[in-house]
Amino acid sequence: MISLHPSLQPVYAEVLHRNPGEMEFHQAVHEVLESLTPVVRRRPEYVEASIIERICEPERQIIFRVPWVDDQGVVRINRGFRVEFNSALGPYKGGLRFHPSVYLGIVKFLGFEQIFKNALTGMPIGGGKGGSDFDPKGRSDREIMRFCQSFMTELYRHLGEYTDVPAGDTGVGGREIGYLFGQYKRITNRYESGVLTGKGVTWGGSLARTEATGYGTVFFVDQMLRARGSAFDGKRVVVSGSGNVAIYAVQKAYQLGGTVVAVSDSGGYVVEESGIDFELLREVKEVRRGRIKEYAEERGSTARYIEDGSIWDVPCDIALPCATQNELDVDGARALVGNGVQVVGEGANMPTTPGAVDLLRSAGVLFAPGKAANAGGVATSALEMQQNASRDRWSFEYTEERLADIMAGIHERCLTTAEEYGVPGDYVAGANISGFCQVADAMLAMGVI
Ligand code: GLU
Repeated sequence: MISLHPSLQPVYAEVLHRNPGEMEFHQAVHEVLESLTPVVRRRPEYVEASIIERICEPERQIIFRVPWVDDQGVVRINRGFRVEFNSALGPYKGGLRFHPSVYLGIVKFLGFEQIFKNALTGMPIGGGKGGSDFDPKGRSDREIMRFCQSFMTELYRHLGEYTDVPAGDTGVGGREIGYLFGQYKRITNRYESGVLTGKGVTWGGSLARTEATGYGTVFFVDQMLRARGSAFDGKRVVVSGSGNVAIYAVQKAYQLGGTVVAVSDSGGYVVEESGIDFELLREVKEVRRGRIKEYAEERGSTARYIEDGSIWDVPCDIALPCATQNELDVDGARALVGNGVQVVGEGANMPTTPGAVDLLRSAGVLFAPGKAANAGGVATSALEMQQNASRDRWSFEYTEERLADIMAGIHERCLTTAEEYGVPGDYVAGANISGFCQVADAMLAMGVI
């Protein structure tokens, strides 16, 4: 861990004090503060106006009870969250996560990351995040619907296209967004398309939104490679996860000429030297909502399924952690470096532990932080909001082109900012400083609010 500039140490101490036990949030804050030393030196006006302290404190935190009835008639209680972190650049924007691990610390870490990620996209969106400790695994469609309806019955009063615009994240996809939107529409008696993103394409959703996070991650890594005279073509790629981000990272990696040799889920990972079959992967995970093990069984002898191992042991040129936070630790990073990895691009939010980031970077591995590399999803959500506001519908090709431009812009912004602040080539610092300064300037202009 890099030590913090003296003026930032009390800020971090206050975050620890105010948010006890919220480890993921502490980690996310520390990682941003580490990058801010050159900013503190150059922009004393931020320090004077306590911008950093203010950014670390969410504007609003909502915690609520979500009661629902399961298929056996048993009443269940979950906890719902929405952390409306920062609205300096636009309405709060960020996904909802339904997973048993969700608690306030996870939602705060994700919301905090979202502020800077959203700023980096250059689109007018603030940062927020929400979710519940509800576990959708093994639940019927009707149970999911009842849960979503109950969740929205409380949350609707805090939302609005100009206020707070949720979307999906782990455990929340098109099905859940449909039930949430239906309930919002019913309660408010408004067809307010722009209140949620990730909607179905026949009722206000954007083409390419489903693919956008995974595609965007690959576009970003492609930009990094191109900047060094290299390309995706011919590279061996390992993608952890097999959710929405991973699946479309796999597809785009193939389209750019790479070969994806391994994917995973929480049960294990599958290695296939000839390349993972994208269509079957999509069918098993998206249509059947099945496990990666089933994929391996169907592929037969060409695929090897390994339970409980580490996917980072699979040799590759490019590693894309697209599963969840802190999934790539020091051991994983050591294995990747030992096998000659060239690039690590974060498709998930904060999937690499701080120790692993240090190890990769000191070994000379190109490292793309999630704030930059996975911003394509939320950027395309902003494109969905644009389409909703103008009651328009764009083609897949046009939307994907816009996404590619946005990712190229983020890449450029990271590099020029890193250069400007005396840390050339440092994508982590570039992303953090660029995102931070955009939010900080807006907050300065708006006074103490
Ligand atoms: N959950 C996604 C993220 O981490 C997308 C958020 C959105 O589209 O609002 O950025």
